[in-house]
Amino acid sequence: MDFIPVNVPLLNGNEKQYVMECLDTGWISSEGDFVRRFEEELAQRVGRKYSVAVSNGTVALELAIESLQLEKGSEVIMPTFTIISCALAVIRSGLIPVLIDSDINTWNMDVEQIEKKLTSKTKAIMCVHIYGLPVDMNPVFKIAEKYGLKIIEDAAQMHGQMYYDKPCGSMGEVSTFSFYPNKLITTGEGGMILTDDEGIFERCKSWRNLAHSKEKRFLHHELGYNYRITNLQAALGLAQLEKLDEHMTMKRKMGAIYTELLRDTCEIQIPLTETIYSKNIYWVFGILLNKKASDDAIRVMELLKEKNVDTRTFFHPMHLQPALLKEGLFKDEKYPVAEYLAEKGFYLPSGLGTIEEEKLLYIVNSLKEVLRIF
Ligand SMILES: *Cc1c(COP(=O)(O)O)cnc(C)c1O
Repeated sequence: MDFIPVNVPLLNGNEKQYVMECLDTGWISSEGDFVRRFEEELAQRVGRKYSVAVSNGTVALELAIESLQLEKGSEVIMPTFTIISCALAVIRSGLIPVLIDSDINTWNMDVEQIEKKLTSKTKAIMCVHIYGLPVDMNPVFKIAEKYGLKIIEDAAQMHGQMYYDKPCGSMGEVSTFSFYPNKLITTGEGGMILTDDEGIFERCKSWRNLAHSKEKRFLHHELGYNYRITNLQAALGLAQLEKLDEHMTMKRKMGAIYTELLRDTCEIQIPLTETIYSKNIYWVFGILLNKKASDDAIRVMELLKEKNVDTRTFFHPMHLQPALLKEGLFKDEKYPVAEYLAEKGFYLPSGLGTIEEEKLLYIVNSLKEVLRIF
């Protein structure tokens, strides 16, 4: 079997046609019409009033949090098991991340642990949906209402997913997406901020483009950024959005096949197929070696690599990040579930362009061979 990368994007719709339109008309900057169309279509898809497309998911989070205008030094609740983009956005807005451990079944933030971490300085909760299942949002809504907290929803891995009847990306004051090539829809690099709040929208839109004042271009009352997205990227995004339902079906089919093939493999824990609030969308198919497995994920991944199967480790928790510890954060804090996930978890090839059934069979057989070694 040829090398199977952990991700290959699928670009088999109108991508080429739309990008060629950009080239033919010369509209390649952020001023082009695909940016507006992509923003409108995605907002409509998730049922939000406003959307602002930006250059990636990391800066989408940054603008989203900054646009809440929380007092400096306020605390933001967030999961420790996530990508560093989430913590960076909090810190760069002058806020303090406060971490929550994961739920061992869904791998998402354990919402039952939020309330005991609240202080008088807590002002927001960042919910990050992980790998395929959303955070259990209803308890978060209750806490947010009771204590007057804002909610930021990072839906980077959840395009098309629902929490009960609510689309992911539609919840809380402000939500964000990423369109990195391993996401359910991609623009190469790209991100989006969505909100129903006009103030948040106006601030994000202005700060994305250097905060030019309304009365005069090149006159600035605020410090902005250049976080613009190009028309070329938005052209890809629009074509990808047309394929979102198809992509979701493919991911769920991949999940079903992996699940069927791995269901009886007692050495590993596989993702839940569903919870009461959602069916798994399998952004990636993660597996977790069980406690008895004598080795950690890294070793199993190396052996899979020798069989031409590429994999990726799970997230490295925020409370173990040297860059954050250096900032004086999280000293001596422990989050056993997240640490266990990081040590024993990794994901199998899950990209839309690399999940044909025969490859999945090969991947699973290779994994079973590798696990038999122990
Ligand atoms: C991918 C991802 C991001 C970052 O997005 P980029 O576009 O790569 O900057 C943020 N949060 C989550 C949960 C992600 O999966």
